[in-house]
Amino acid sequence: MKDRRQELPKLDQVRERISRYAGAGPRYTSYPTAPVWSDAVDGGALGRALARPSADPISVYVHIPYCEKLCTYCACNRVISRDHSVVEPFLDRLELEARRLSSLLGTERPRVQMALGGGTPTYLSPPELDRLGRLLNDSFPARAESEASVEVDPRVTTREQLAVLAGHGFNRISLGVQDLSPRVQQAIRRVQSVEETERVATWARELGYRSVHFDLIYGLPFQTLDSFAETLEQVTQLRPDRIALYSYAHVTWVSKQQRGFERHDLPSPEQKLELFLLAIRRLLDAGYAYLGLDHFVLPHDALARAARDGSLRRNFMGYTTERAVDLIALGPSGITELADVYAQSHRGPDEWGAALEAGGLPTLRGWLLSEDDVRRKWLIQELMCAGSISSDRYRSHFGESLEQRAPELGERLRAFEADELLERSDDLSAGGPDEIEYAVTPLGRLFLRNIAMSFDAYLEEPKPDAAPRFSSTV
Ligand code: SF4
Repeated sequence: MKDRRQELPKLDQVRERISRYAGAGPRYTSYPTAPVWSDAVDGGALGRALARPSADPISVYVHIPYCEKLCTYCACNRVISRDHSVVEPFLDRLELEARRLSSLLGTERPRVQMALGGGTPTYLSPPELDRLGRLLNDSFPARAESEASVEVDPRVTTREQLAVLAGHGFNRISLGVQDLSPRVQQAIRRVQSVEETERVATWARELGYRSVHFDLIYGLPFQTLDSFAETLEQVTQLRPDRIALYSYAHVTWVSKQQRGFERHDLPSPEQKLELFLLAIRRLLDAGYAYLGLDHFVLPHDALARAARDGSLRRNFMGYTTERAVDLIALGPSGITELADVYAQSHRGPDEWGAALEAGGLPTLRGWLLSEDDVRRKWLIQELMCAGSISSDRYRSHFGESLEQRAPELGERLRAFEADELLERSDDLSAGGPDEIEYAVTPLGRLFLRNIAMSFDAYLEEPKPDAAPRFSSTV
């Protein structure tokens, strides 16, 4: 089937589909999604799953929840504190968690990926980052050629911090940029000059970081096509290797500070999609490849290669190369993802720390995936990463027919085909009349979350008085 990843949809079609598809829906960084999880998974259940014999490589994620100032668009799990004395006790507890996880995992599992996220990892001073780097390398020894990335806030990051992290093997860096327009920055209370961003990117390259990533957000208050075009122009001139372009999630029932601006200051769903289309066009023109959903990469990047060879995957950290199946999380709110288990830690540093000091793992909730969950999760991954669904690939993976597993799917996929969000392959030579292969069209790429919802066995009609569970899909 022809690769249509670099094509753009027509605006009139986009407008018409928005009128029918705009609504709340999951982002599918997990399946089943977090609202379905329960306290049936506790620290004991996670410990037993981690202790199963395995020599498979692992990824490690560490959540550092602290930030100096609150950005009003933020929906992350963070603690605002100008008092840095919170860090030492936090690292003491992180050490308990790392040692406990490492003894459960044993010594046979090499680490091939690691990420520090937050919050703001560079809230930590250089000596604190040094302690953290030593702890992680001791507890989860890295295989040669492993990837290690850190999220940084350029406003509070120094060259010395980056040098310490580089000394512990960090080789990728992700800079929070969001938007460079002064008016937007004022509204989101995150004032950051292009010079600050450029300076940190330059330090990282000088220090040997192999890949520099920028995070942008579209759909922020006061963003216009002109202002966002200017941001994109400035960003592409700095040539980050990857750009993650996230949709702003207006979830005031989760993040009260998002009430710092009015809903009418936000672009409408249609304007928001125009911003997204503008970004796709400008980034493609600037030489980036569009991976799907929210990631753009220069052609030499590891994710671009993973997309070409079919090893691209998606997890809580976004798109990733499939180098490890099991993602082990540390820190408050961290989500561990094993092949058949999700486990999320307590969100508050106090609850998380108390659980560790009581001698267990700090699991708050999670999910044990059933056979059906594993299959539907795989289908959603295929849609988000390969950009297509093939009953032939499904059969070779699971040894059963897709039609038997989900007889309702054929009708749903045909409806998306009629709306030109999916196109059916002409080449059905691999199978008989029951074979299906549907590829996401350039138009369908904007509605991936809506298409993924058709694989979700847990979605319920929202109750009239219930708080919303998900952000808007477009
Ligand atoms: S720096 Fe990041 S985590 Fe911290 S408040 Fe701002 S957006 Fe949220």
